[in-house]
Amino acid sequence: MNYQSARFLTSAPTLAQCPPDEGAEVAFAGRSNAGKSSAINTLTRQKALARTSRTPGRTQLINFFALGDDTSRRLVDLPGYGYAKVPEAVKREWQRHLADYLRGRRALRGLVLVMDVRHPLTEFDQTLLGWADDQDMPVHILLTKADKLKSGAAKNALQQVRSRLREWEDLVTVQLFSSLKREGVDEASARLDAWLAG
Ligand code: GDP
Repeated sequence: MNYQSARFLTSAPTLAQCPPDEGAEVAFAGRSNAGKSSAINTLTRQKALARTSRTPGRTQLINFFALGDDTSRRLVDLPGYGYAKVPEAVKREWQRHLADYLRGRRALRGLVLVMDVRHPLTEFDQTLLGWADDQDMPVHILLTKADKLKSGAAKNALQQVRSRLREWEDLVTVQLFSSLKREGVDEASARLDAWLAG
């Protein structure tokens, strides 16, 4: 798949307003500031396709990007979660939209869960993994900002996350990633290719 061809398609506040539920898409989720927008921009080799968050938690819309000439293959940027200053009621509303999307979207082939390698598996990350598991939805975890750790420490973090997720090993894969160093791009692209093929 040519990820460089990604272009903005539309934004939707709720599942009901998403583009037609056909073809195949891969969605990116993650705690605000984890590095999700940077990861999308790195994978698509675009500087500002997904907006990196100067104000964490502001992007509340589900953003769709089309790959290639038509709109049958898509990347989806889900709202970041966990930003402390957002009122509880708003948080619950986002969580409802996320849950609706994960449960209701038939085109969804897999979920990329972006975590800061230094703060993996937050409470809501684990909630999302539980929702994905309920749907038998495969998840690929990017432990990003890997450049912030020495190589040995990054490898340890990877092993620790893998062992904590052993019960889900059929559905969940994990890798190190760095947008700054462009590391892990081939591995992540291969996973997306597998999901979006066919
Ligand atoms: P989002 O809220 O999850 O979309 O996070 P962003 O992509 O906006 O990134 C949050 C902050 O982390 C920004 O200051 C980025 O420059 C920084 N960042 C993102 N990815 C990396 C990375 O791989 N390495 C380093 N060192 N910083 C990163």
